[in-house]
Order: sequence, then structure tokens, then C-alpha cells
Amino acid sequence: MRNGSGSGPGGDTGDMALCSSGSSCARAKPVQVTRVHITDVTRRNRRSLLDCAPVRKFFIGFVLISVAVCPAETIRLKNGRSIVADNVREKDGKVEYEIGDNTYRIPKSLVEKIESSIPPLADPTFGTTSPAASPKNPNDGYAKPVPPTPTASAQELRVAADDPALKVVHDGKVDLDVLNQLDSSGKADSAAAGYFMAGRFEYDHGDRDAARRYFERAMGYAPDNAAILSHYAALLVQSGRGRDAINYAEHATQVAPDSADAFAILGYAYFSSDRSRDAIAPWEKSLQLRPDEKLQALLDKVRRELSVEANFTERDTGRFTLRYEGSATKDTFRALLISALDKDYDELSADLGVSPSQNIPVILYTEQAFFDVTQAPTWTGAINDGKLRIPVRGLDYVTPELGRVLKHELTHSFINQVAAGRCPQWLNEGVAQMEEGRSLDGRAAHLAQFYKEGVQIPLNALEGSFLKFSTTEALVAYDESLAAALYIRDNYGTSDIRRLLERVGQGGTLEQAMGDILHMDYAHFERELGQYLSSH
Ligand SMILES: [Zn+2]
Repeated sequence: MRNGSGSGPGGDTGDMALCSSGSSCARAKPVQVTRVHITDVTRRNRRSLLDCAPVRKFFIGFVLISVAVCPAETIRLKNGRSIVADNVREKDGKVEYEIGDNTYRIPKSLVEKIESSIPPLADPTFGTTSPAASPKNPNDGYAKPVPPTPTASAQELRVAADDPALKVVHDGKVDLDVLNQLDSSGKADSAAAGYFMAGRFEYDHGDRDAARRYFERAMGYAPDNAAILSHYAALLVQSGRGRDAINYAEHATQVAPDSADAFAILGYAYFSSDRSRDAIAPWEKSLQLRPDEKLQALLDKVRRELSVEANFTERDTGRFTLRYEGSATKDTFRALLISALDKDYDELSADLGVSPSQNIPVILYTEQAFFDVTQAPTWTGAINDGKLRIPVRGLDYVTPELGRVLKHELTHSFINQVAAGRCPQWLNEGVAQMEEGRSLDGRAAHLAQFYKEGVQIPLNALEGSFLKFSTTEALVAYDESLAAALYIRDNYGTSDIRRLLERVGQGGTLEQAMGDILHMDYAHFERELGQYLSSH
């Protein structure tokens, strides 16, 4: 989403849209924005933003296996997220923690508490392009729902707590020798547990391809193990392959009819396959087995959606599943809308080298129905929470503004596909704005000045949700994101944007991907970006 005036810092008026997350975008209606002295605001906030810099997306909110298997500590953040770390300590007013070989620091002021035991379920975010919902922030409801990380104890893995399989990960990596020994041990459950542990390690560290391979090996040894099946299904859902996940998730519920995780994941598999109605029963069952506020909220939202859309007509265009209230939109308008979406789809396929594997749901609402379903703030103009939700307000044709909104929102769906839902926010919003045809107009000079003075919002503070920003900061965040995307496009080409997204989808951080592809770390990139803006 973008939020605020199109003319940005020091600007006047324009269209405004705010996205809650990478895959989730709520665009706003045009509004009048007061002229502000952005430099002062940015300076004042710079300290806190810089303090956030070491927070990296894929370290947030995972649960490990069990206390006995892998000791860890959970840092509970005030924004509702959790970080599970190997070690946590306080140092110089910061909380320092280790995950694998890496050490990170966050301001103590962000931390609510540190727990030494591991809860049954962590924050469900896998990669944090879809930031964890914070109950304090109504906008977080737009984040694309992602399944929780299931749990697995030694008992669930059917091995003793001291089984060597549980020690397959040590010194921050998977011990392949141990896996080989397990392969030749003849003990299927032990080998399954070993491969599961390896998969879980890679899963927690964002390498989905490696995690998938290990989980598949584990399933080869133990095809009826619900913990392994649920993890595999969750991974498929998170990778945008909800349809493929259904069979595994269903099987997990059959072999473990008392597993809240198994039923929750099955619901997510249906939900992410655009089968919301089928998600209700497994979610209800999961909630009976174990209350879960977040899942309950999602179930309530799906019920609202189904109620509003009970009489909607559905049309499959081959690329889009269009839903609409027959009397609320004219045939001619819908034809124009599909034609605009098809054109956008072709352009995005060419630019990003991918076509979404599933139909993209597009739902057209009357104004009231839109707000009933989304419970969005009144400024919201459209939302992408995995489905494009568009209030059409009795339009007869695709206005230029609606055209931009469609392209912007559709871009998020494509990015989600290419980057497997792991794209950091600045690249996600930068590319979405670039694709909608937005330019920096007269704002480049302002931005250039920020970079010259070193008061820009650093890129690593723009990896997570922009919702933590004030409207003014959000304007700068969107402009910096756009500037960065345009810089990459102009100097390296759209193909390198695509390669960055692909690389992020394979695991690792965006900064690592930039090092490999653009041969620059963030600091270097920001210097180049400053020069690029100066030359505009
Ligand atoms: Zn957006």
C-alpha cells in the first residue's frame, strides 16, 4: 500500500495508498495531505529506525521442536511478534541474541519479555513479508494469512529424547555424516526424525528448498507421521502451493485426529487454495482442540466474507476467479476490468518471468460490502490479502486511478509467487509502484537531500511492515522503495529485479541476494542510490 500524497515529502495532494505487508496491500483513496517538513520528522525518528535495523525478517517468530531437543529462548516483542533464539542476553541497553552462527541486537525498548521455555505455537509468520498481526493495529488484518509453524516433540517423532537423530543439527549446521549413519541404521523412525530435524532447521532459517527435500526424505521413512506431514503441508502453503498441500494435510488429520496443528494446517491449505468454505470445518475442529485467538479471528473473517458473498456470481477467466454481485456491476464494466487485468497479467509475466500457479481471486464489492468484509479503515481503496478486493462504487469504466490500483495490487500477487512470499517490504512496494507506472516526479530532489545528509530511512529498516511508520514516514518509505526499484531497473534491468526476487524466494536475505547479483551490500547500494537521485 502506499499512504499519503502522491507528491510525497513536501508535496501537496495526490493519491494515497497503504500496504500492510508485502503480499498484502490496501490502497487508499485520494486525500489532501498537509505540507510537512519531512527532514525534521525523519531526523527525529532516525534513531529508532536505525535501532530496528538488525531485525531480519526470517528470524522472527518460529518455534523449535521441544525444550528437551533444542534449548532456546523466546523474545516477546511489544508489537506482538516473537523471536526464538539460541541464546539471549542484555548488553549495553540492547537485547542481543544468537540464531545459528549469527548475532543480532534489538533495542531493549522493543522487548516485552524474554521467556526461557518454548510455547506450543509461535507467531505464524514464515519470513516476514507478511508481518505478524498486532492486535493494536487494525491494518494488520490485511496481512495475508500464513499457517502456523507446527510443533513436534521427540514423542511425536516416535523416538527417545536421547536419540542421536535429534542431534543431527549442531554448530549451526546439519551434520550430513549423522544423516548418512541414520540412513544405514535400518531404524526408520530414527532416520525420519533425523531428516525432519534437518528440514526443520532449514525451515527455520528460511531455506525452503532444502527444508522441502529433507521433509520429503523424512516422509519416505515415516509416511504416516502427522508432525512431518503437517510441517510439509505448512511449507507448501507458505510457498504458494496450497492445492498441493491438501492431501498431506488431510492425511495428517487422519493419522492424528487430536492434533490441533494438523486441522489448522488443513484449513490453511483449503483457504489458500481459494476454498474458504472447506476451511471452516477443520478450523472449527482445531479451535475445539486448542483455542487460538488469531485463528478464531481469521475464521470470523472468512465467515463474514462467505456471508456477504453468498449470492455473488463467480466467473473463471482462466487466470482470475472473478466474484461479484450481479446487480452491482454492469457486464460491460466487468469485461473492461478483466481486459485491463489481462493486459497487466501479460506485462507482469514478461517482467517477472512467472505466471501465478493458481487463479487469482478478484472480488468486486459495493462500497458497503467491501468494508463489511474487510473491516478496513475508510481511507482504504483496495486490498490484496491474497485476494484482490476492489470496491467498484458503480463505475462504468476503468478509470486511470483504478487502472493503477489494479496493476499495483496484481504486482503484489506476482511478487508473492516469484519470491515465495518472502519479499521484504521495500522491494515489494518499490516494484509494485514501478509497475503501476509511478514516478518520483519532483520528489527526487528531496530524497537526494536525505541521502546526502544521511537521514534517509535505512533499507534494512524498510524490510518489515511500513505500518509502524507514521503517515509522513510512510510517504518517505514508499518513495525510497520506489527510488530503489527504479535505480535497479535503470542500472541493471528488470531481469535483475526478477533474479533478486527469485533468489529471496530460495532463502537467505535480500541483502545477501543483492551481494550476489548487484555486488553491493546495503550501505554501498544506498550510496549509489543517493547519487542516482542527485542526477535526476
Ligand atoms: Zn502495495
